[in-house]
Amino acid sequence: MSCPPEHRPALRFRFSTAAGPVDKCLRHAILHGPLFRTALVTAAIVGTTLTAINQGNVLLSGAFPPILYWKIPLTFSVPYLVSTTSALRISRKR
Ligand SMILES: [Zn+2]
Repeated sequence: MSCPPEHRPALRFRFSTAAGPVDKCLRHAILHGPLFRTALVTAAIVGTTLTAINQGNVLLSGAFPPILYWKIPLTFSVPYLVSTTSALRISRKR
């Protein structure tokens, strides 16, 4: 589904769908279903791997120091942002 007609932003993004290409503003592009789901899956896979590499020894020892309450979410947010940013950059309509 495209943006409502009143959305005429400077930045526009084009996505392929079964019904043909659709153009979206940044807000709607970030929430575009396939882009959003792909970023979540990427964050789950890469975030889990990075957490295991960086914090695995601490977690396997049975400890959960308070610093991990922000480090682990930050670790998962990085692949989410990389995936979303990459998808938006290649979808940008010029
Ligand atoms: Zn929009």
